[in-house]
Amino acid sequence: MSSSHPIVLRNLKLLEPTFDEVREGYEILIEGDRIRELSDTPITAALAQVIDCGGRVVMPGLIDCHVHCMHSEVYMRRMEDVPLTMAAARGARRIREMIDRGFTTARDTGGTDWGMKAAVDQGLIPGPRLFIAGRSIGPTGGHSDGRSRTNSGYACPCCNGQAFLRLVVDGADEVRKAVREQMRQGCDHVKIMVSGGVASPHDPLDSDQFSDDEISAAVEEAEAFGRYVCAHAYTPRAITRAVTLGVRTIEHGNLIDAAAAAVMAEHGAYLVANLVAYVAMKERAAEYGMPPAMLEKNDMVLEGGYRSLEICREAGVKVAYGSDLLGPLATDQSREFSIRREVQPAMDVIRSATTIAAEVIRRPGQLGTLKAGAWADLIVVDGDPLDDISVLENQGARMAAIMKGGVFHKNRIGAAA
Ligand code: ZN
Ligand code: ZN
Repeated sequence: MSSSHPIVLRNLKLLEPTFDEVREGYEILIEGDRIRELSDTPITAALAQVIDCGGRVVMPGLIDCHVHCMHSEVYMRRMEDVPLTMAAARGARRIREMIDRGFTTARDTGGTDWGMKAAVDQGLIPGPRLFIAGRSIGPTGGHSDGRSRTNSGYACPCCNGQAFLRLVVDGADEVRKAVREQMRQGCDHVKIMVSGGVASPHDPLDSDQFSDDEISAAVEEAEAFGRYVCAHAYTPRAITRAVTLGVRTIEHGNLIDAAAAAVMAEHGAYLVANLVAYVAMKERAAEYGMPPAMLEKNDMVLEGGYRSLEICREAGVKVAYGSDLLGPLATDQSREFSIRREVQPAMDVIRSATTIAAEVIRRPGQLGTLKAGAWADLIVVDGDPLDDISVLENQGARMAAIMKGGVFHKNRIGAAA
């Protein structure tokens, strides 16, 4: 899938997140799907295709650590009326739009199966490298349980758009079996629900979900397979419980306090924050059918999102970039940059979507950097994101080129800026 000739990128401003500033005079040699050399002196390579980047900024492809490629409705119960073929078609479009925005890697936290991942890997549909959780796993009545109260049974969702989204299981043995099944299905990590959620009908935000032995069973099985557990959690209590039991990443974490952040720091756990989801839901979720009870829960976590970044910075907890946008709200995926920039330096925001994100998905040095040995995933940007981070927004409009694995997804470098 990679080009046969090496590529040299020159006349560029380098935004390498492991450096502290944009540097000039660098050149990049790409061979196959990898970066072979990052040099501050001119590179000569036989038969290389030389590309003049016109003085634009070159930086690693972006990484979103919290997406749901297959969640094509805002109000999830509407997925019941989406046939599997339509669900796949919508998912393919959502994936393509992510790489159009410069996200060359996405970590799916529930809903995307190995078939979609393989379809991208085989070049059948354009999209980011996918790291998948398969079905997210939660208890009866928890954040994974979207049933109406009149539905006392659990109808098999295998013929509608909910098929791959989630599993409802109870007891350590059922959790164990569900986790093993996700591993068998080629998942990169396991997603569990340990507190209430916004986009679920009947669970209070501050509810604890899963017992200690259920969480421990998930961690034990994931680690036995060489994988890890990420947990949906909002409250200090849920965060502390999950991390203490071995969960490696906390998703959302909006209501975190200093004590819970200290526990995360002690265990080396990561926070994946996604402030944009709450902003976008407040603005537009009602028009896509989200009921008032869910919008009320959204208001409860919206403000905490900004505080959570500050609390984690003080405690030394690394925070990765997430978006978590459902349905048509996904067009706001890059808006998390501007939202975080209100409270963080631009370089910290960029690291959250490059080097820190690469640590979350256990690919440091391979993703989120332009250093030798990394996958050749990069974007060429009109404008300097350190001066104006919004150049990374607007559906990739300011990206002159987007490359994944040494292959251009988009290349307008020759065209006028
Ligand atoms: Zn969640
Ligand atoms: Zn999510």
